[in-house]
Amino acid sequence: MKELGHWINGKYVPGTSGRTADVYNPATGEVQAKVALASKAELDEAIAAAAKAQPGWAATNPQRRARVLMEFVRLINRDMDKLATALSSEHGKTLPDARGDIQRGVDVVEFSIGAPHLLKGEYMDSAGTGIDLYSMRQPLGVVAGITPFNFPAMIPLWKIAPALACGNAMILKPSERDPSVPLMLAELLTEAGLPPGVLQVVNGDKDAVDGILDNPTIQAIGFVGSTPIAEYIYSRGCANGKRVQCFGGAKNHMIIMPDADLDQAADALVGAGFGAAGERCMAISVAIPVGEETADRLVEKLVPRIEKLKVGPYTAGNDIDYGPVVTKAAQERIFGLIDSGVKQGAELVVDGRGFNLQGYENGFYVGPTLFDRVTPDMEIYKQEIFGPVLSTVRSETYEEALKLTMDNEYGNGTAIFTRDGDTARDFASRVNVGMVGVNVPIPVPLGYFTFGGWKKSGFGDLNQHGPDAFRFYTRTKTVTARWPSGIKEGAVLNFPTT
Ligand code: NAD
Repeated sequence: MKELGHWINGKYVPGTSGRTADVYNPATGEVQAKVALASKAELDEAIAAAAKAQPGWAATNPQRRARVLMEFVRLINRDMDKLATALSSEHGKTLPDARGDIQRGVDVVEFSIGAPHLLKGEYMDSAGTGIDLYSMRQPLGVVAGITPFNFPAMIPLWKIAPALACGNAMILKPSERDPSVPLMLAELLTEAGLPPGVLQVVNGDKDAVDGILDNPTIQAIGFVGSTPIAEYIYSRGCANGKRVQCFGGAKNHMIIMPDADLDQAADALVGAGFGAAGERCMAISVAIPVGEETADRLVEKLVPRIEKLKVGPYTAGNDIDYGPVVTKAAQERIFGLIDSGVKQGAELVVDGRGFNLQGYENGFYVGPTLFDRVTPDMEIYKQEIFGPVLSTVRSETYEEALKLTMDNEYGNGTAIFTRDGDTARDFASRVNVGMVGVNVPIPVPLGYFTFGGWKKSGFGDLNQHGPDAFRFYTRTKTVTARWPSGIKEGAVLNFPTT
């Protein structure tokens, strides 16, 4: 059985804790590897080595650091097929989707190559008589990234690239469900010229996370995952005096106005609801058609599109639309939620529970599922299902649809489909959600903007990637300087003013 360890000091090392977790191939249901779960002692050693490597990396000029990232991009592109295959085999998503996962991560590495510009401070000549004032952005030291299973390339890259570009060292604790790609990325970074110790990939579970939260060397933590864990890490990390940003779960609503192009809206809902088996934090899981007629026509258009979806293993290449969910437990939880939807009175229009694929009977597949006439009190509305299940909540008016979106505890992404500019503008302006699409169902901003949700989807002040990432991974120092020729007075006891 393949064993996956850690990437420490520029090389692969096996785990020594004696604890491991199974890594599945969700397409077949087989265990394909064991991943080491680090002990606190292993973690502390990795952190100590990172702390030793960090000052040298911080002293490397920003352009040279950026060059390492430039070479890293080239190497990722060289190994794209290998990375995508490893990713799909542990996650289950299709190969084209796996390439997209890697590419959206590369976008942020490319953005981070602009670090020399983004790290420039400000300068004011003669702010007072003979006094110059300037600010600089300095790295934090050793920082940590804790990442989820659903984007095993993109989210680690969103953490690694800006953190390293700013001169920090990083401890990356990826998801134990699909750890191969983060290890491969660390190896590529080493090949690209990153000094040993600057990026340490430590595999593990709650023990490793708690070790990160309590280790005083760790200055900042960037987390992405489910909301309960985000809340835990945010509160314990902040209580320990660290800078923390946590991005949590989601329940993304899409409003479909009566004037929308319903074919476009239906296509968008199918892509955003069922792509990656619904395991995206920006997946649309709730459709809100406005008006009974819009709802009837939308459902009519959705059904044949959904029934046509091809579900299967990533090895089928472009012939499938989405793959299995990540674990048996996830599959069973989703089936349980579909059962609850039926029990609570939602109309099950397309039922994915009976899905069966010859030769892949043990894979973790869930067929595409559509519910109509869902109400906000139902579990399928309240919970983040994180599976290929789309719920339709009918509303009478735009205001009612907006209120529903705004009352939801999550605020990651949302979208409106309409031809009316006034309505779209009103929605974008009033809705309390971090990322908004106008006729765009998955409004994930590009790498040079920032990404982050509101309410229970995001904790902390700064977003991921874009300029915010450079603020998160640096601290500002401001220097007020004058030289002996500029000092005219003797001792001054009053508070200095201009
Ligand atoms: P998860 O919360 O189970 O795991 C995320 C990370 O936390 C992993 O590294 C895991 O090892 C660690 N972890 C798990 N349980 C822990 C515990 N009890 N104590 C300490 N650490 C723990 O999330 P997941 O299932 O891997 O990912 C899916 C979730 O992530 C969904 O809720 C999804 O919406 C969310 N997500 C959010 C965003 C975003 O940007 N808002 C992006 C991607 C995924």
